[in-house]
Amino acid sequence: MAKSQVYFIGPRTGSGRDMFVKLEKLLDRAGLPNFIQQNELVAIKLHFGEVGTTAYIHPSYVGFLVGQVKSRKGLPFLTDTNVLYRSARGNSVDHLRTAFAHGFSPLVTGAPVIISGGLKGQTSIEVEIGKKHFRTVKLASEIADFDKLICLTHFTGHLGTGLGGAIKNLGMGLSAKSGKLAMHSTVIPFVDHKKCTGCEICLKHCPADAIGMKEKLAVIDPVLCIGCGECMVVCPIGAVDIQWNESTQNLQEKVCEHAYGVVKRKQPILFLTFLTNITPGCDCMGFSDAHVVADIGILASYDPVAIDQAAVDLVNQQQGLPGTRLKKNLGQGEDKLRALYPNIDWTVQLRYGEEIGLGSRDYELVSVDS
Ligand code: SF4
Ligand code: SF4
Repeated sequence: MAKSQVYFIGPRTGSGRDMFVKLEKLLDRAGLPNFIQQNELVAIKLHFGEVGTTAYIHPSYVGFLVGQVKSRKGLPFLTDTNVLYRSARGNSVDHLRTAFAHGFSPLVTGAPVIISGGLKGQTSIEVEIGKKHFRTVKLASEIADFDKLICLTHFTGHLGTGLGGAIKNLGMGLSAKSGKLAMHSTVIPFVDHKKCTGCEICLKHCPADAIGMKEKLAVIDPVLCIGCGECMVVCPIGAVDIQWNESTQNLQEKVCEHAYGVVKRKQPILFLTFLTNITPGCDCMGFSDAHVVADIGILASYDPVAIDQAAVDLVNQQQGLPGTRLKKNLGQGEDKLRALYPNIDWTVQLRYGEEIGLGSRDYELVSVDS
C-alpha cells in the first residue's frame, strides 16, 4: 500500500521567503487549489485558546489561510465546539468573546466565527460507526453541512492522551457535549450538593426523567440516566459535573472513534498541523508553559494518523529545551511525550486509529522547503 504523504515546511525564513510565502507553497503542494470549489462552505476547525494561554496558532496564519480559501472562491469560516467543563469556552457567547479577545475576529482573519454544536453544545447528529466502544457517535450538528473541512491543529502534549494532535482536534474537537461526556466518562454525571440551589432546571431538561429532588437538591438516578450531558449544559451554576474516570487507553480509543465518525461522513478534510510553541499541555489549559522543543515547522496531509505520527516523530527527533517541564529524555530521538506523561502510552491513538481505518502510520515526509 502507498505511504501517506505528509508535506512539511521548516521554521527558517529569510528576505522574500517569509513564513507566508512558504505556507502558500505548502498549501499548493498539498493540493489546496483543487481542494476548494466555488461557493463551498469551508470549515476551518481550530482551537481559539483558553483564557490565559498564548501558544495557540497566531491569527495572522489563520487570516492567511482564510485568504487562500477565498482566492479559490470558497466560503471559509472558523469553528470550534463548546467544551464540557466550566470555561471561557463553555457556551457560544463566552467562546466568541474568548476567540475575539485572542485575535480571531473577522476584522483580523477575514472570516466569520461560528461555534458548532449549538449555543450550549447540545445540538448533535448521530453517525453510525459500529466500532468497539460506540455503535454511533454524537457530533456537532453543523458537521452535516460543511462542504470541506480544514483541520488546523496546534500540536502539544496532553495530560489525558499524551499528545494533542489532529486526531484529538477532530474527534474531541468536533463532538457534541454528549459525545465529549461519553469519551471522558464511563458513568453518569454527578450533582455537587454544595453548589446545587434546587432550581429544578435540570429536571425539566432531562430527556430520560432521570433527575429527582431529595431534600431540595437534585439527584441523578443512575439506572435511568442515558449520559446525554444535557443537565451539565443547562445547570446555570455548574453544579452538575463529569466524573473524569475514563482510562487513558479507552479515552484515546474513543477519541479515535469520534474522529472516525467525522471522516466517515466523506467531506474531504485537509489537515494542517503547526509544530510551533510546543507546550507540555494543550490550549485548553489556562496557561502556556515554556516550549519543550524549538519550533519545527508546519505539516499538511489528508491522513490524520500519518500527520500525527510525523508530528510526534519530528518532536522526538529534537533536542529537548533545558529549563522547561521536560526533565528527562532531552536527547535527540528520545520520547519527549512519555517523559512529560510517564503513565500515558500516546501510541494507543495512532495504533487504534490505524486499526479502525482512520489512516496510516506509514508515511512519507515530503519537504517543500527549497
Ligand atoms: S446526563 Fe442526561 S439523562 Fe443523565 S441525568 Fe443528565 S440530562 Fe438526564
Ligand atoms: S439545574 Fe443545577 S442548581 Fe438547579 S437543581 Fe439542577 S443541579 Fe441543582
